[in-house]
Amino acid sequence: MELHKNEIPVSKPDIDVKIQQNASTSAPIGEVERLLNGRTRDIRLKGELRRLFRERSWPRTAKIIRSWMIWVTFIDLLTLGLNAILLPRPVALSMLAPACILPPAALGAAFFWRKPGLPRLQITVLIAGLFFILLSVALVGVTAGGEFYERHLNIMLFVAISAIIIFAIPLPATTTIAAMALGLYLFFQIHNPSITVGSVEAATLFFTAGIVATIVSRRTMTILAQKAFLLELRDQSRVAELAAANARLELLARTDPLTGIANRRWMMELLNRLWDAGAETGGIALLMCDIDHFKALNDSLGHGEGDRCLVKVAGIIQSNLRGSHDHAARYGGEEFLVVLPGIAEEEAIEVARQIRESVEIASLPNPASRVSSHVTVSIGVSHVEDIQSTTPEQLQSQADQALYRAKESGRNRVVPYGR
Ligand code: GH3
Ligand code: MG
Ligand code: MG
Repeated sequence: MELHKNEIPVSKPDIDVKIQQNASTSAPIGEVERLLNGRTRDIRLKGELRRLFRERSWPRTAKIIRSWMIWVTFIDLLTLGLNAILLPRPVALSMLAPACILPPAALGAAFFWRKPGLPRLQITVLIAGLFFILLSVALVGVTAGGEFYERHLNIMLFVAISAIIIFAIPLPATTTIAAMALGLYLFFQIHNPSITVGSVEAATLFFTAGIVATIVSRRTMTILAQKAFLLELRDQSRVAELAAANARLELLARTDPLTGIANRRWMMELLNRLWDAGAETGGIALLMCDIDHFKALNDSLGHGEGDRCLVKVAGIIQSNLRGSHDHAARYGGEEFLVVLPGIAEEEAIEVARQIRESVEIASLPNPASRVSSHVTVSIGVSHVEDIQSTTPEQLQSQADQALYRAKESGRNRVVPYGR
């Protein structure tokens, strides 16, 4: 917004209410409350809430997945190197080919998770990557044979369990990873020449129980993360409500309830801010406007008509302001104070004349007035070239004195201070 050279960025009370926007306003708060009021274990995010949760948690999930993939690659290469040093050459060489499946699979998945993409596709790539990682670990043992056969199948299950625990991905994807790991385990164990079918069954059942427990704990962690997300949404929504209520209160405290324009309190704040800023090099003027014989209007036409007259006069004054840098406020009963920053004295007098004329032209009835049969106003004008050479109180007092003279000299007129 471009400011007039003498404009102070103060908001008029009638344009002051801005309901604070935040992420929660687009979230269905009713659904959030419903889920939080129910049992934690029943929390299931759907539709917009699920989308928002995914959007919020994706960067962290992706970072964890990428780091895990890089670590697995690092450990694979490290193990390969150590095996080359520690194991007999033929065994180490037999491990080389299957171990080489892992790095491209892991790094490919990590690469695919560096930016948000289609969620389903990313999950599919993750599952495919994990399949080759698990296959690689299992094949290393299978091709080396002997003691390495079963050991690497166990390592493969350990790798799968670590992925299940730390990857915050949807439950079906977690279950698929678990099924893949157990399937590979079962398949290779059945072909393990050194153990019996009975012991294969027992070991598979044992590991299945362990993996199911891991899936349950993953599910619990996901639900708790979703609950934390819902609580955060509720907090944001309450903060936004509070901010809106505060803005409404602020507005009420600064507005004149009858006319809807600013009240005296707001005008005092504005004057203090103008003086604090001290930037008014082009002069500043105050107009003190007072309706003539207003008591007589009340007495003759009733208080209701008096109120309507105040609303109309307030509107007329507002419509004669030059722009957003001029401000009017209801100062008291039937008195209005206008501040015109960055104005020459003659121009300020002209604005006052226009206000007076416009009120007269509006022909609002005041049959008991001793000036005219219509509503009229008297206006006192005070002006100063250098804002720092006076105070708001002095300038107001001068406008008051000029108004007093306007009343004394017959009303329905504009009197500049000191003339
Ligand atoms: P003058 O020309 O000297 O200004 O005379 P006046 O009658 O306008 O001034 P006076 O101070 O004697 O009377 C002001 C009246 O304004 C008295 C009061 O009842 C009336 N008044 C103040 N506030 C309101 C209001 O909110 N609504 C109405 N209808 N009347 C109000
Ligand atoms: Mg008065
Ligand atoms: Mg009056």
